[in-house]
Amino acid sequence: MKHNFGAGPCILPKEVFEEASKAVIDFNGTGLSILEISHRSKEFEEVVIETERLVRELMNVPHGYSILFLQGGASQQFAMVPMNLLPEGAKAAYLDTGVWASKAAKEAKKIGQVEVVASSSDKNYNYIPKDFAIPADAAYFHYTSNNTIYGTEIFEKPATSVPTVVDMSSDILSRKIDVSEFDLIYAGAQKNMGPAGVTLVIIKDELFHKSGRTIPTIFDYEAHAKAGSMYNTPPVFSIYVSMLNLRWLKAKGGIDVIEQENIVKARTLYDEIERNPFFKGTAEVEDRSRMNITFVMNSAEEEAAFLSLAKERNLIGIKGHRSVGGFRASVYNALTITSINALVDAMREFEELNKK
Ligand SMILES: *Cc1c(COP(=O)(O)O)cnc(C)c1O
Repeated sequence: MKHNFGAGPCILPKEVFEEASKAVIDFNGTGLSILEISHRSKEFEEVVIETERLVRELMNVPHGYSILFLQGGASQQFAMVPMNLLPEGAKAAYLDTGVWASKAAKEAKKIGQVEVVASSSDKNYNYIPKDFAIPADAAYFHYTSNNTIYGTEIFEKPATSVPTVVDMSSDILSRKIDVSEFDLIYAGAQKNMGPAGVTLVIIKDELFHKSGRTIPTIFDYEAHAKAGSMYNTPPVFSIYVSMLNLRWLKAKGGIDVIEQENIVKARTLYDEIERNPFFKGTAEVEDRSRMNITFVMNSAEEEAAFLSLAKERNLIGIKGHRSVGGFRASVYNALTITSINALVDAMREFEELNKK
């Protein structure tokens, strides 16, 4: 058995892969593949409706919000957010907690004015800035709830009265949130919701056309909402597999159940990192992520040796991002405690083999 700790595209439950593979041959007894059916067919319409319903139910999305399934990844949202929400002459507030957060701000700067309210770049983003002020006249405030590369996470929405936009690509569906606190939530599916190719957007309808700008239809949230995510051909297969994954999550007991599992998984690995003298966490303890766990060793030689032991033990995708180095274990919803234990066992084995 392979243990996939990859940061994205990510592990999904085996049952989901099995069912998806069947639908590639014969989707729901239609005699057609999910890859060839019309996105306007009744059968696929039902898929979109169920996927939306599952998102609403699992995340407890209140009335007045639209749920969209778009293409272009989270990176396209970096541009769509300011196009739709930032009026001429107004400014947007951004919190800089890493590469994704700063890319989002960089794209917004191409559309309008941006104020970066705080940054943790001074310490290679190993912590979350605190005590910053969000200007009350900002058109919106944008932040990244989980910093996939650095292993930091923001669990509480920063307090502000301005509309809040959050990039939840790598912690969506991993823990309970109150959607009503947010005005727009987006997430590339491939970190915790489904395969690459679809991006989830949950947007408060009041925000449509808030910027007053003339924007191409394909970038207009309202156009996608009015068309029920069928303004153009949607990513049919990615939506379908996301639906299967959401069904899996619901059958498991939903967000409350998965959140408890995620807490135990993260604690188990962090405990070993703290106990084992060969390993050291890179993120500030109070800001540590539950989804991406980053750690280093004392030397490049040790890291190379542990990486090859990990490979022998079928631990895949644990090499850290080049900007942090060391290791990163991504422990998304579908990763089981069995895989965490396999990693912990390898860390203990390494300790036994190398202690003096
Ligand atoms: C991976 C990632 C992105 C980029 O997602 P794409 O879908 O590849 O554009 C953006 N934000 C966060 C937090 C990510 O983890």
